[in-house]
Amino acid sequence: MSGIWQDNFSSVAKNNRPSPIREMLAVIKQPGMISFAGGMPAPEVFPVDQFYEGAHILKDQGKELLQYGTTEGYPPLKDFLAAWTAPRLGRKAGPEEMLITTGSQQALDLFAWSMIDKGDYVITEDPSYLAALTVFFNHGGSFLGVPTDRNGMQVDLLPGIIEKARSEGKKIKFIYTIVNFHNPGGSTMSVERRKKLVEISKQYNIPIFEDDPYGYVRYEGDHLPSIFSFHDQGGVIYAGSFSKILSPGTRVGWVTGPKEIIRNLTVFKQGTDLCSSTITQALVAEYCVNGHLDRHLPVIIDNYRVKRDAMEKSFEKHLTPLGVTWVKPEGGFFYWLKFPTVNTNDLFKKAIDKKVAFVPGDPFCPTAGAGIHNARLCYTFPSPEIIEEGVKRLAEAVTELAIP
Ligand code: PMP
Repeated sequence: MSGIWQDNFSSVAKNNRPSPIREMLAVIKQPGMISFAGGMPAPEVFPVDQFYEGAHILKDQGKELLQYGTTEGYPPLKDFLAAWTAPRLGRKAGPEEMLITTGSQQALDLFAWSMIDKGDYVITEDPSYLAALTVFFNHGGSFLGVPTDRNGMQVDLLPGIIEKARSEGKKIKFIYTIVNFHNPGGSTMSVERRKKLVEISKQYNIPIFEDDPYGYVRYEGDHLPSIFSFHDQGGVIYAGSFSKILSPGTRVGWVTGPKEIIRNLTVFKQGTDLCSSTITQALVAEYCVNGHLDRHLPVIIDNYRVKRDAMEKSFEKHLTPLGVTWVKPEGGFFYWLKFPTVNTNDLFKKAIDKKVAFVPGDPFCPTAGAGIHNARLCYTFPSPEIIEEGVKRLAEAVTELAIP
């Protein structure tokens, strides 16, 4: 590559990887396509009227809300979140222990700025959230993937992985984990493993990034305590988001952790976007303090549980006979399928011909090739009827691929 721009690109830009999911969105827009690909909330449950109700604040406090805000975030929103997340975090975070971010995606980026030097290693579940892998990679990170099962990361394997890596001179900076309703795995880490993970973090002096955008979207069973709540030495930073519980269009997330880390992230945010949108933060705060969020959660959960059940039923009907296996998620947005022989990159092309889309497993896996028989399917966006039709088409694609 050469030319006035290319010759001057950064080394990161020369090597950067576009998100396969974002690239795929173009294909998915084809007419008649059923998409299980993007992790999209259902528009029918967006609380448009209740959100609009709060718009009076633009008249009442417009002069303040049209101004730049502090980088740390809009104080009434932070106050609400500190109280609202206290049961999950085991205590109420102080204002200096929380930063409002532009989606929790920004928290990942700011954290990577704070932690990763080129050549450093990050421990993640294998598979893991694609856009986290991308951010960490862009900051020069490499990965140590830990296999998962229905109870999340197999933390018993961690000491061996850490010791081997260290004996090879690898520098491990942090453990990145999605403990609830994993993206893409669908699994939830057991309490026992959460405690074990914290012990390992302390023993090996490796901090943890607990990414929890789906934790409040639980369909059955009790909420489990966060990893944050178990770590008495402040070794965990916890990220949450309004994207899956209210609206991703607001681009409002937050991150809670020890003051010094939050301060570091805040300084990086100063150089990234100065502050998150003041207007949006104020609208979200108004919505929440009026009690709408707590009333809205059961509505989302009911809607998504029906869709999860529809997908489960369709899988049993169409995919069990083909030897496909999966873990039923107790919450969140995703199923992670395992096909006995099919390469899901090939299946993707066949499925697109049949007008059904999913995300092949490969890009989610830090270990090359670990996901070639897997696929991620999101069930929250389509209706139960469309889910049945889409799974039927997927099964046809599998059959045709096996018997061309
Ligand atoms: N973490 C995980 C695990 C996710 O699945 C997502 C969204 N797909 C994010 C972080 C980022 O979400 P947002 O920036 O919309 O808050």
